[in-house]
Amino acid sequence: MKIYTADEAGFCFGVKRALNIIDRLHESNESIEIYGQLIHNNTVLNNLKEKGIDCINDLDCLDNNRKLIIRTHGILKSDEEFLRDKKVSYVDATCPLVKKIHRIIEQVNSSKNKILIIGNSNHPEIRAISSYAENGLIVNSIEELDVLKHNEPVSVVAQTTLDSGFFKMMISEIIDRVEHVEIFNTICSATIERQEAVKKLAPKVDFVIVIGGKNSSNTKKLYNISKIINENTFHIEKSRIASVRTNKGEYYSANVLNAAGVYARDISQMAGIEVSVDPDCHEAGITEPVKPFMGPMVVDMRSEPGSKNFYFYQSTEGQVIFCLTPDPPILGTDSRATSGFLPMIAKRMIKIMPMLANLKVRRTWRGQYPNSPDGFPIVGKVRELDNFYQAVGMCGQGFMLGPGMAELIYRLITKNHGPDDAEISKSFDPYRDFKGKEVFK
Ligand code: SF4
Repeated sequence: MKIYTADEAGFCFGVKRALNIIDRLHESNESIEIYGQLIHNNTVLNNLKEKGIDCINDLDCLDNNRKLIIRTHGILKSDEEFLRDKKVSYVDATCPLVKKIHRIIEQVNSSKNKILIIGNSNHPEIRAISSYAENGLIVNSIEELDVLKHNEPVSVVAQTTLDSGFFKMMISEIIDRVEHVEIFNTICSATIERQEAVKKLAPKVDFVIVIGGKNSSNTKKLYNISKIINENTFHIEKSRIASVRTNKGEYYSANVLNAAGVYARDISQMAGIEVSVDPDCHEAGITEPVKPFMGPMVVDMRSEPGSKNFYFYQSTEGQVIFCLTPDPPILGTDSRATSGFLPMIAKRMIKIMPMLANLKVRRTWRGQYPNSPDGFPIVGKVRELDNFYQAVGMCGQGFMLGPGMAELIYRLITKNHGPDDAEISKSFDPYRDFKGKEVFK
């Protein structure tokens, strides 16, 4: 089966911005609560809840010890004034495109125009927008335009997620009925682009699956637009991995953990999720066994042409085991050793410990380290799927963290969280800012 993704899919700019604001505050250990549903998507809200971030629906429930976030849809003008009067510490994550509508309405207020707000009167965005209008009227059907008077000038704004076809139809009706009309097309471009992408894709495929919150205006519009074009359109809210198929058979599980080492990126892509894990090849060798002659492992962090750091140690069986990091790095899963490795590391080892020249090398090999961009493991639940977890990028660090890491993953999946798990998990969060550097480096 071929699966096509619409040209425009995923979170819009306003939602990404709000989630980034929250991530940044959460990473700096700020305790957070959100006024209203941040966005209409239960999967996102549940993910926030798992991080201890709750939504409140009433300003009477304000917790003064927590930073308040204003949802993307915006809030009533009176609520904003209340927060300012009470000097509540808050961060406004209202989408700038929604804020722009508030500003337009404030400007129009100074004229005598009636402000027509086209949209759903029950939607929080529309309730917030209309609270700014001194002479506003919410309309969502042609019949509701019957109250308009020919000589009463109107200014028109639209809900950001309005169907552009419906907006055009309403505008044409308004122009027929009213002499002076000022039009602000406030449908957001992200909405229009997604609607156009659905219109383009829906006629070409057998089925359309629209994924998004059941109470999301945007998602419902996309579903309705697609359903008109393609009868086989379905709206699903939660996406899960139903089963895992391999060449040995099909496996069913309530949860799926990607712990595929160097193949982590490929496995994750099968679930439609990008994860930045690149196998970085290191080359290693082992000598014949000899009597114990050295205790600690020797690690040389200095670079030399063709190689970065290297290490060697004597095992309890007497063999000397050595490993080198090539420079430039060799990425990929090709496990054939290079011909230059042994002369390069032998020279470096003998320079440090000349007696090693007498040892015979028994075997060499190349191994791959699954590296994340900041050298730290990537462990946690993916936001986009309900039952998919990552335990990847387990380069040296993941193994050094050993059983503790395994226990953390177990508690994560069984939702049996320990008191420090939220704090510990931050360093491994799949959605963290990967600009950090491994401290060891
Ligand atoms: S106005 Fe557009 S960009 Fe902003 S939150 Fe709504 S859909 Fe997203």
